[in-house]
Amino acid sequence: MTDSASRPFLPFTRPSIDAESIAAVAEVFRSGQLASGPRVLAFEAALAAYVGGGREVRVMTSATAGLEMALEVAGVGKGDEVIVPAMSFAASANVIARVGARPVFVDIDIETRNLVIDQVSAAITPRTRAIMPVHFAGLSVDLDPLYAIAARHSLRVVEDAAHAIGSAYRGRKIGSFGDLVVFSFHPNKNMTSIEGGAIATADRDAAAAFERYRFHGIARNAEGEIDVLFPGAKSNMPDVSAQVGIDQLKRLDGFNARRRALAYRYFEEFAGYDRVVLPARGDEGHSWHMFTVLIDFPAHGMTRPEFQKHMAAHGIGVGVHYPCIPALTYYRSQGYDPEATPVAARVGRETVTLPLFPAMGDDDVPRVVRALKAVLG
Ligand SMILES: *Cc1c(COP(=O)(O)O)cnc(C)c1O
Repeated sequence: MTDSASRPFLPFTRPSIDAESIAAVAEVFRSGQLASGPRVLAFEAALAAYVGGGREVRVMTSATAGLEMALEVAGVGKGDEVIVPAMSFAASANVIARVGARPVFVDIDIETRNLVIDQVSAAITPRTRAIMPVHFAGLSVDLDPLYAIAARHSLRVVEDAAHAIGSAYRGRKIGSFGDLVVFSFHPNKNMTSIEGGAIATADRDAAAAFERYRFHGIARNAEGEIDVLFPGAKSNMPDVSAQVGIDQLKRLDGFNARRRALAYRYFEEFAGYDRVVLPARGDEGHSWHMFTVLIDFPAHGMTRPEFQKHMAAHGIGVGVHYPCIPALTYYRSQGYDPEATPVAARVGRETVTLPLFPAMGDDDVPRVVRALKAVLG
């Protein structure tokens, strides 16, 4: 075997939870206040301070729940269309379908893996209500022209910023500006609250609406009596999760700096190697949620699952983020054709995610790249 065989398996990602945050969670358990309480309020305040821009921030149990309520609050429903990139996690499109609207897929750029702005303009119809850009792997979408298009056509923008907590666009933090910006704190993301999500917005009415959407549609009248204004969801964040998020947020900038250093190490190790298509380098605002490369598997006489098995034999975990959404069974059944967005279709076939997380050692990147070169031959 290789130099990797004697070392522990390197997963493609792993959260960094320290003893301090485990102790802080134990304290929450001892307090007896496990569901939404003071820690949720503290987490929301800390997130608002972190993203800046005087934003309202509300947390919920996942980005998926957040994206869905953002669409509802934006008034998106039956008969409406929402423009979304064809390569993202399926949740980006699923939430559009779940509110009764139709996802309209646009293609992505081969390097940034973000939606192509010109295609957004071309996809607008009288039914378009919103655009959902996805900041893939933490590299910001080119938001100025996107918001200009949205303004020209009176469209809402729901940013899927699941990968982009701590990212910036032209020096401005994602979430510090814009319409409705949704983050994820799933354990695979740059920071975690076990499961969790947050919405940042300047819209105070929307923020008040999110409090109702995430908790049964409940509102209280002036006397403090409970009323229900609509059948809301049950997606309020527990205090245990919020405490994890509070501790993670303190470490986020350090995590992201480490991710960036590791990503740059990948570029060094891959210099001059032409069997993989590398992602765009971006700038300081890139938070490097993932390092994904494209490989023409048939040209190397193997399938992607075979490649993953060979890498696993070298002790290295490899992920797939993401298949082209229109290629998935549900979307095919709705009449979508992945070849209508050829770059997304290609990325969906060729992409693999290499290990990238803050606790990786300095020699892990060279080890991954040596294994990949050995496997591709
Ligand atoms: C992870 C992810 C989501 C969903 O986040 P959850 O918090 O797991 O619901 C949505 N969109 C993208 C692009 C993601 O990567």
